[in-house]
Amino acid sequence: MTLAVIGAGMAGLSCAFALQQAGQQVAVFDKARGAGGRMSSKRSAEGYLDLGAQYFTARQPLFQQQVAQWLKQGVVNRWLAPMYQYRAGQLAASPDAEQRFIGTPAMHSPLRVMADTLECHFNCRVSTITNTAEGWFIQNEHAEQFGPFAQVILAIPPAQAATLLPPPLAVTLPTDLLQPCWAVSLQLSKATQHAAGGIFVKDQALGVSWISRQNSKPGRSVTENWLVHFTPEFSQQHLEQDAVFWQQQAQHALCEILGLANDSISVNSALCHRWLYAQQQQMPDSNFQDAIAPGLWLAGDWTRGGRVENAWLSGYELAQRIQHG
Ligand code: FAD
Ligand code: NAD
Repeated sequence: MTLAVIGAGMAGLSCAFALQQAGQQVAVFDKARGAGGRMSSKRSAEGYLDLGAQYFTARQPLFQQQVAQWLKQGVVNRWLAPMYQYRAGQLAASPDAEQRFIGTPAMHSPLRVMADTLECHFNCRVSTITNTAEGWFIQNEHAEQFGPFAQVILAIPPAQAATLLPPPLAVTLPTDLLQPCWAVSLQLSKATQHAAGGIFVKDQALGVSWISRQNSKPGRSVTENWLVHFTPEFSQQHLEQDAVFWQQQAQHALCEILGLANDSISVNSALCHRWLYAQQQQMPDSNFQDAIAPGLWLAGDWTRGGRVENAWLSGYELAQRIQHG
């Protein structure tokens, strides 16, 4: 019988891909138009823009092997641009020996390669899952039904998984683990001439956690584009503010950090995106490695502390557990 994976982010696809490689039949469901989740890049007239994940590191040998394969396939590249740090009002180069990777030409490229080999149902928001004597059934928001499935894997953030579970199971999930992040990308009409690729912002005052120059990444915007990520605290505090507010905040922060006069940059276009479930500061209290009901499993970066690498590992290791018990 087929297995169902809900969520075509890094965790869901690594799980589905590994299960299929092991000879299982798998169907993947995602509410979005394509694979990527929090690793989706937006296509713009100037090239791809990364509004979510900015880069990833590879510390575990299993993931390092996977990254090596993606590098060979050309869907991942090294991001070599210089790293900077902004602290106590000072911007300074902050070189390190870390290898940072990005999907190319878009952050979601390695995910699309996996999705292309799988049966994927996009634009398919799952609204109900039901266990019957025949197996699991999935229903989407248009009341279309899929199944029966022998196993269902929920590879989605815990707050979204909780909406699909009966109350006694839903309460066991850490629904407030993932915090929001507002992201703003600013397309400038003139280059700032700054060398930085990424800037770690360690100054609470601006409400910003990270800034990157997207045109320093292979395959991205060819003209000057800066991406600003706001801290979970600032994003939460102003969660319902509109794009005008966020663009103003981003422009102000960019000028402050780069040491430019506020009126010295001219923005051609801006994109604002609100990630409701972006990142976590801690590990969940419980371990979610076992099935939460017969044939029902959880996967996702959040089960292992966040990050792209952990999302991949979570899906891959769950596939091994389902295969080998
Ligand atoms: P997701 O990518 O969230 O995938 C879940 C999928 O489930 C989504 O595609 C969603 O559409 C789908 N879905 C949800 N509910 C349903 C439903 N009911 N029906 C159907 N589909 C559903 N990590 C790093 O390592 N480095 C970084 O620099 C970095 N920066 C980040 C910056 C931001 C702003 C954000 C938001 C995240 C960042 N991360 C970073 C974290 C990284 O993106 C995640 O760890 C990783 O992408 C999570 O993958 P996932 O598969 O667990 O979840
Ligand atoms: P990493 O090892 O490059 O970074 C981990 C942390 O170390 C950074 O957040 C930063 O505080 C610090 N750091 C690393 N290099 C630095 C340098 N050269 N100068 C100054 N500080 C430096 O990467 P990782 O562990 O793979 O983490 C991935 C990145 O994704 C992190 O930066 C994390 O904050 C970010 N992330 C962001 C979100 C979001 O919503 N904005 C969500 C998940 C992860």
